[in-house]
Amino acid sequence: MSFRASVLTLYPEMFPGPLGLSLAGRALERGDAAIETVQIRDFAEGKHRMVDDTPSGGGAGMVLRADVLARAIDHAAPAGDPRPRLLMSPRGRPLTQGFVRELSTGQGAVIVCGRFEGVDERVIEGRGLTEVSIGDYVLSGGELAALVLLDAVIRLLPGVMGNALSGETESFETGLLEHPHYTRPAEWEGRTIPAVLTSGDHGAVERWRRAEAERLTAARRPDLLDKA
Ligand code: SAH
Repeated sequence: MSFRASVLTLYPEMFPGPLGLSLAGRALERGDAAIETVQIRDFAEGKHRMVDDTPSGGGAGMVLRADVLARAIDHAAPAGDPRPRLLMSPRGRPLTQGFVRELSTGQGAVIVCGRFEGVDERVIEGRGLTEVSIGDYVLSGGELAALVLLDAVIRLLPGVMGNALSGETESFETGLLEHPHYTRPAEWEGRTIPAVLTSGDHGAVERWRRAEAERLTAARRPDLLDKA
């Protein structure tokens, strides 16, 4: 079973974009993951194919119409489609590694990319969209947020990462930030590699890495320790 994403967007040219390269690119080529785009404008009616309109109650910007978006969603994910329906949104549930892992074990996702001021609230309710945020800042559209989500999910799919173990010690997977890394040369600009890492003592290496992970997390992200 592969992971199938349907991305609803006004800018399908943005996909797969950077996900066409490297790790994700190979996963897409092999068919371990698939990204299909749906042009929201194809579901607009009338000569001008209007997808947005002015906000009720007044104010700046435009709002994506509920009727147009609902038709696009119903086309991409007819009733019975088991995939979660997500709306990229700064108001959403924060995208965490735990959430990413949960998505990576499923059959895929239907991802709506907002634009303008956002989307009509009624389509969020009417089509059961789960709002997902990639961080506390505002992007101009949901496409980059969807690419971030898909990158994080695709690298976790079975067989995608060269060394499956590297996923498990990474930042957030253990509730901690990851320990520092080093590689050859042994000395660079007068800086050496911590001796324990070249000692051959695997137990000592593990203890050092754990201690470094705890030290970094306490210094940079004490909120993660509070949660653990
Ligand atoms: N007026 C909205 C922001 C709209 S930004 C507000 O204040 O909440 C336009 C679109 O970009 C959004 O509909 C959403 O799809 C996307 N977007 C912006 N920031 C995002 C974020 N941090 N995470 C996920 N999607 C985001």
